Amino acid sequence: MSSSDAPLSVDILRPSAMGPIADVDPRDTPGFDGGKSAGKAIRKARGEVLADLQERLYAHGRSGDPRSVLLVLQGMDTSGKGGIVRHVMGMVDPQGVSHASFGKPTDEELAHHFLWRIRKKVPAAGQIGVFDRSHYEDVLVVRVHELVPHDVWASRYDTITEFERELVRTETTVVKVFLHISHDEQRDRLARRLDRPDKYWKYNPGDVDERRYWSAYQEAYQAVLDRTDIDEAPWFVVPADHKWFARLAVTEILIEALSHLDLRWPAPDLDVDVEKKRLAES
Ligand code: AMP
Ligand code: MG
Repeated sequence: MSSSDAPLSVDILRPSAMGPIADVDPRDTPGFDGGKSAGKAIRKARGEVLADLQERLYAHGRSGDPRSVLLVLQGMDTSGKGGIVRHVMGMVDPQGVSHASFGKPTDEELAHHFLWRIRKKVPAAGQIGVFDRSHYEDVLVVRVHELVPHDVWASRYDTITEFERELVRTETTVVKVFLHISHDEQRDRLARRLDRPDKYWKYNPGDVDERRYWSAYQEAYQAVLDRTDIDEAPWFVVPADHKWFARLAVTEILIEALSHLDLRWPAPDLDVDVEKKRLAES
């Protein structure tokens, strides 16, 4: 296989193809036959394809093209959002990546519309923006813990799809990834954080309390997929108990999104021959 061949087709990761998340095995590797070492090696080879596309997007941005790409990462604690940022986005030039993570809102943020803090982090022209958590928290943790009245969060699904359609109209390609891990795998990952001094900092006692709400979160995620999976801004359900598979799948989702932009190198807005002559004479 050459690095220009896609190792898996991302269409099969769309919610409509995957079916209800309750029936998806988080250990599965849909569309990919190989194992961990092949998966890792292929992801690294495909990283070069991704880096080339990203550089083209960046070059277009520098030439006045407004287009950008937004990758939304959602998933339970320990689902590997940070690892995607390191291992997938880490394969491209950091100058072209803008990263934003959304934790518990500050008092100032709470005093504004829930999209206020999100809008400020939408990627600029030529950038790939990555959201580690996002506006979806406002229909996930907020719904599970009833942080606002039912009617308020219930109206947000439509607000969110409207917002994303607006992003697409203003030339931001939006792709959304749900990293789907199992309850057991989360326990193992939390346990590892308690076993390793270099991982203690990641351990948050509150994560254990949140595990009691696991099924409410799964329902909230299913509602998100049911109500906000639009073709303009698609969701992908990525089984994530195998980190190597999740990273490979997200690499492919980004390559696919960037490929649709048809990114030829931008034409120079100067006369190359004149410049060569001037340079030789200088
Ligand atoms: P972490 O990703 O581990 O840094 O955790 C961030 C925490 O912030 C998670 O527990 C999220 O559920 C929480 N969070 C993110 N957005 C919101 C929000 N809009 N309302 C309440 N909590 C949120
Ligand atoms: Mg956490």
